[in-house]
Amino acid sequence: MSHMHKSFTIDEHYLNSLPFPAIVVNQDGQAIIFGKPAEQLFGISATDIKGNTTPFINENLLRELSYETFQAILHTDESTYIDKVQVVTFTNEKITTALLAKPFIEQGEPYILLLFMLPELMINSVSNSGTLINLKQGLDNSFMTVTLDHDGFILECNAEFLKTSQWTPKRVIGKTFWQLFPDNEVSEKITNTIWRNLNNGHTWQGEVEKITKTGQSYWVLLTAIPTFSLETNEQQFMLIEKDITKSKTIQHQLEKIAYIDTETGLMNAHRLEKVISNMIEDDRHFSFVYLSIDKFYTLKELHDQQIDQSLIVEFTNRIKMYFQDSTMARINENDFVVITPLSEWFIQGFLSYLQQHPIYSSNIAVPISISGGITRFPEDQTTFSQLMKASIATISNVREAGGDKIVSLSKATHKALNRKALIEKRLLQALDQKNLKVLYQPQIDVYSGKITAVEALVRWEDEVIGVVAPDELIPIAEETGLINNIGSFMLEKACEQALIWKKAGLDMKVSINSSVREFRDKNMAKSILEKLTKTGCPASLIQIEITEKFALEAEAASFITQQMRKLENEGISFILDDFGTGYGSFRYMQILPIDTLKIDKTFTSSLLKSEKTQKLMHGMVQLGKSMELKVVAEGVETAEQADLLITYGCDAIQGYYISKPATPEEIEALLVK
Ligand code: C2E
Ligand code: CA
Ligand code: CA
Repeated sequence: MSHMHKSFTIDEHYLNSLPFPAIVVNQDGQAIIFGKPAEQLFGISATDIKGNTTPFINENLLRELSYETFQAILHTDESTYIDKVQVVTFTNEKITTALLAKPFIEQGEPYILLLFMLPELMINSVSNSGTLINLKQGLDNSFMTVTLDHDGFILECNAEFLKTSQWTPKRVIGKTFWQLFPDNEVSEKITNTIWRNLNNGHTWQGEVEKITKTGQSYWVLLTAIPTFSLETNEQQFMLIEKDITKSKTIQHQLEKIAYIDTETGLMNAHRLEKVISNMIEDDRHFSFVYLSIDKFYTLKELHDQQIDQSLIVEFTNRIKMYFQDSTMARINENDFVVITPLSEWFIQGFLSYLQQHPIYSSNIAVPISISGGITRFPEDQTTFSQLMKASIATISNVREAGGDKIVSLSKATHKALNRKALIEKRLLQALDQKNLKVLYQPQIDVYSGKITAVEALVRWEDEVIGVVAPDELIPIAEETGLINNIGSFMLEKACEQALIWKKAGLDMKVSINSSVREFRDKNMAKSILEKLTKTGCPASLIQIEITEKFALEAEAASFITQQMRKLENEGISFILDDFGTGYGSFRYMQILPIDTLKIDKTFTSSLLKSEKTQKLMHGMVQLGKSMELKVVAEGVETAEQADLLITYGCDAIQGYYISKPATPEEIEALLVK
């Protein structure tokens, strides 16, 4: 096997454990792993076919498999079941079989597991092909098979099954699937899962406990497969089982060992998780101390040969000595966790202890530095995974600051975490009660000197948290998905306001800010148009501001571009916001239906101070004009800035110079001036 496939979870051993001949093909359609039964069936040895020179599978084994079907299989999440396909073996035998194709991802690459579910195995008729007889006998000797009808009644089973289950053929026929399992809650859950999967057309595989006729327990690796009887044309289910009772017993014993890191004798992360879950359940308070050896790999390389015991064992001894009766675990190569009720200053004392009791290498103390984090239960975090995450965040901060320190989850981080959680919670409520407010910031049209457009900006003052600025609110909303709710709230408000102004005889466009996350919803355009219809607002009054980040993603995702076009066709225009802060790629400007460039306020703010900025802004305006776009400058705070930008050719000006974001009444007051 080539190196690349060594660490595959789906490897030859796995394929050999399956009840059907199986192979793995890569995304180019080349067979790369063969199970033993597949080698036998196809008359080929795996070494013959492997490697990059192997042709696409439809040039040898599966001539009926079209490239399109192959691609379709590769790109679904589900298994594909093809009930009849012809396989041409390398000895030129033609075999008709059902094929189960299951796509999976390994190390970031897509592969397909192909299971050749031979009808001979499924309907118990013997083929005249020599290969198949051998194969079937081979499987019959090592697997138990049971066929069920669509109601779960046992139709037939093989000798192997009878031997293990101690049923007689007469007695077992007509018993049900469920009677093969112990009568307890765990079994009930598993059998329900299996049954649901089968009825949904899915195969199921896993380790399950079963009982013999006399109620004795035994363990099997079960593969349950939905099949069809080719004779009666009815749905059936097939159970293929391998007895794993022996290995299961050993495994139970091994579990104790497996929970232990063999090098240090400490418990491993899995065990730690269990221990901590129990402590949390019992509400026992503790500090979760995460200790990570800095620059571990360099240290190891430099010193491990000279140190009698390995560095890790020596280090573990120091932890054991210092923390005595506390619970300790090794999380990975150079990370440890100590669970202790001891105080912060005592925990931090471990560093000086380590200095006083160094680890020696050729009579020289090895300079070990530790980055550590203390997270408390329940004050800081309340689950194992939160404790881990918070610790890792703390550690990386400590390490960035030079390491060799053990710090508590800092008050600031702690506060930030809590605040975020609080904002999430309160925001949900605010959205529910429509407690968000909208302010509008006007733009002046340079030619008429009139306010012809406003930008809608969200405002939120929560009675518990106080004012939450958009710069804090929007990223959290994007992360949690609440941005969709904010977006639709803002759109509704914008439509209502635009309509009020229109009825008052004012021709005022209203723009809203939109996050790309909202457009990942394939129904975005539809729901925008629905809102327009619902409120009665003409599409031509609404503008949508998007950022360059949005534009880049939209360019790559045709369904986003299509939605934008659809909206544009209806009369909505798009503004490219924060122009100039992005990625310096302008390709999307040709692809996306953009109507206006809005140059970012960072340029405006340094305009008068920097000649370079002046050249840049002038260039940006010219670029926009050359593409027949309108150009708006934002963040304009002074008359000097405005004058300069107007000489560059800007079409509109937005900023505190005109007005801060304001209420509709304030905007109307500005209009009369
Ligand atoms: P933005 O789209 O670039 O909005 C312009 C921001 O600049 C606004 O900040 C506005 O109050 C501020 N501003 C306007 N004129 C001036 C000026 O002359 N000088 C200075 N220094 N600032 C000025 P705000 O309202 O805090 O919004 C911040 C950002 O939050 C917005 O940047 C926008 O990206 C986002 N945002 C606001 N409301 C929404 C919304 O409803 N949906 C989405 N997706 N994002 C929003
Ligand atoms: Ca904006
Ligand atoms: Ca902006």
